Amino acid sequence: MAGLGEFELIDRIRHRAATRADVRLGIGDDAAVLAPRSGHELVVTTDSLVEGVHFAVADAAADVGWKALAVNLSDLAAMGAQAAWATLALTLPEPDSDWLDAFLDGFLELATKHQVALVGGDLTRGPRTIGVTAIGWVPEGRALQRGGARSGDAVCVTGTLGDAGGALALREHGRAGDAVLSGRLHRPTPRLAAGVALRGFASACIDLSDGLLADLGHIGQASGVGAEVELARLPASAALAQAFDEADRWPLQLAAGDDYELCFALAPSHLEQARAALLAEGIAMHCIGRIVAGSGVCVIAPDGSDYRPPRSGYAHFGGDGA
Ligand code: ADP
Ligand code: MG
Repeated sequence: MAGLGEFELIDRIRHRAATRADVRLGIGDDAAVLAPRSGHELVVTTDSLVEGVHFAVADAAADVGWKALAVNLSDLAAMGAQAAWATLALTLPEPDSDWLDAFLDGFLELATKHQVALVGGDLTRGPRTIGVTAIGWVPEGRALQRGGARSGDAVCVTGTLGDAGGALALREHGRAGDAVLSGRLHRPTPRLAAGVALRGFASACIDLSDGLLADLGHIGQASGVGAEVELARLPASAALAQAFDEADRWPLQLAAGDDYELCFALAPSHLEQARAALLAEGIAMHCIGRIVAGSGVCVIAPDGSDYRPPRSGYAHFGGDGA
């Protein structure tokens, strides 16, 4: 465990970070120089992770590194973008090279999986906080957005819902952890291939970070429509179904955040093409409801009655997150 200086730590990062052909100048100068593709638009997003808010002091540094990049790549996925570059602003309480090495293990493992080059960043002292900016690209005019959903569209999601919330709920209730569920919480899979596959099919798209009701609510607001979701159609993993009965898992699937699946609207004429395009990427798609005229998200119980969830999402500054 060595306490290194700022420049030695940056050097450590620079030596481990991979590059790519479109990085003209990466870590080491005053700023990075990147070559955009002609005929494409840049897609840029930033998300921060704060110790004690987004991750626990006891969480493995490698998992924190993975997740810090994953949540940003998930935002690119929701836009239908291909990921290319990232920057990393690290605030650390002390120059702890062991923590940094483990953090980079997770961060760079995910970066390598998606050919993302770490091209710059910042290093300061203070309460542990990780700010990542991710940059990707889409062909001109092809970015998916929240605002295009139309009444009559199907509401669909990739993967399964509620696993990350299930991992947290097990921990909060002092129950035995489940490896599959905690893997989904600590190492979420950004659905980049799904976002690209949905270009030209999805009328609106968002990634599920705050919970289905809150995030589908954002599609509804941006599109000027409402939505109905059927509880009986919410996809659950075997691990979630085994750990929770339906009454306990529905609130997790509707309102717990951190799943990082994509939620999107599809005109009925695009359903089968979209399903095939996702399957070709090895990603399952489930239709869970429909876009309707009006506003707000209604949830329909298996017996056809209205279902009122206990809470509708995670909001940092109060409010119900919807
Ligand atoms: P400046 O003082 O000009 O902002 P810095 O000393 O902060 O430069 O950074 C030197 C170089 O190291 C820059 O290229 C910067 O992008 C890079 N860098 C600094 N911190 C990080 C980090 N946490 N991850 C990746 N690159 C970093
Ligand atoms: Mg700097």
